[in-house]
Amino acid sequence: MRALAMLGIGKTGWIEKDVPACGPMDAICRPIALAPCTSDIHTVWEGAIGERKDMILGHEAVGEVVEVGELVKDFKPGDRVIVPAITPDWNSLEAQAGYQMHSGGMLAGWKFSNFKDGVFAERFHVNDADGNLAHLPEGIDPAEACMLSDMVPTGFHGVELANVQFGDKVVVIGIGPVGLMAVAGAALRGASYLYAVGSRPNCVMAAKEYGATDVINYREGDIVDQIMEKTHGEGVDRVVIAGGDVNTFTQAVKMLKPGGVIGNVNYLGKGDFIQIPRVEWGCGMGHKMIAGGLMPGGRLRMEKLASLLVTRRLDTSKLITHRFEGLDAVEKALLLMKDKPRDLIKPVVIIK
Ligand code: NDP
Ligand code: ZN
Repeated sequence: MRALAMLGIGKTGWIEKDVPACGPMDAICRPIALAPCTSDIHTVWEGAIGERKDMILGHEAVGEVVEVGELVKDFKPGDRVIVPAITPDWNSLEAQAGYQMHSGGMLAGWKFSNFKDGVFAERFHVNDADGNLAHLPEGIDPAEACMLSDMVPTGFHGVELANVQFGDKVVVIGIGPVGLMAVAGAALRGASYLYAVGSRPNCVMAAKEYGATDVINYREGDIVDQIMEKTHGEGVDRVVIAGGDVNTFTQAVKMLKPGGVIGNVNYLGKGDFIQIPRVEWGCGMGHKMIAGGLMPGGRLRMEKLASLLVTRRLDTSKLITHRFEGLDAVEKALLLMKDKPRDLIKPVVIIK
């Protein structure tokens, strides 16, 4: 089969590989909708998770089941499915402890395009099909559902990690597709003032549509100063980090009230340390929590998030700025994600 792969750090290309084998609990799928992720960019061009040779890229997909193992109960060939980016081993001890995204070791629930071949191929393998796949609801556009693989659950997980409560003042740092879903998630959870930090005009527009009450441009001055001015020196209750770099944590701690929580879902591609400012962290006693996490993945989450599309509580169509057709276009979409033109939020490739 044909697939788009990471050939080594900084290099991608098309390769031929065998169709993956289907274990008793697994499924083999063909893609219907695929999206590249900023994480693919960190992985290939920053070498963030180390060297990988001829590893198929991609972890965001809606697909059609073509084969299932003999123990799979709820899926059969021909079913259209949402495939989460994170596909844990549900019988692992880590999953039993509530951290299924780390089943098998830290970040090991993130298998596609990390520990095994990803979805940018004519066929891809899904472990634990009953635990990880979700049926695509009737009438839902596969491209819009493809945003449920990673963008929605990651943005929402940032909101969960920051533990946003009704009436909280919330900052979302970074309003690419992940941050935009954090804005939408914080609004659904009842944030009052919702400050979105970014600069691309179409992201700014989308942030307002998803519920941001204010937009802060990090290119026009220090974001701590801007947030402090808007909150009359008080700071905010929660910060969700979905963009920036290792220095962003310093800013987040500074803009947080005592008792506040930072939820990070940004994938830190470079830098050895994050710095916590001593004084603003209350000299170690400020009750300012920092939580960072990989999104949890799995079937139940996909089904619940899909129900938000069915009921129109969430509209992911605003994320999709570029649509392509045919597997070959995945390369173009990936390079768009790398170059981040100003009009890009998220590209999706449809495969008939
Ligand atoms: P984008 O690159 O599209 O968005 C990043 C956002 O951060 C943009 O709004 C950008 O602003 C903003 N930004 C950049 N630099 C700064 C800065 N110095 N200060 C403040 N804001 C800044 O990324 P995505 O939305 O696609 O992904 C966000 C992150 O989430 C990535 O690192 C990705 O790898 C990670 N991720 C994590 C997952 C997880 O499970 N934890 C899963 C999926 C993704 P501008 O408007 O100027 O572009
Ligand atoms: Zn992703």
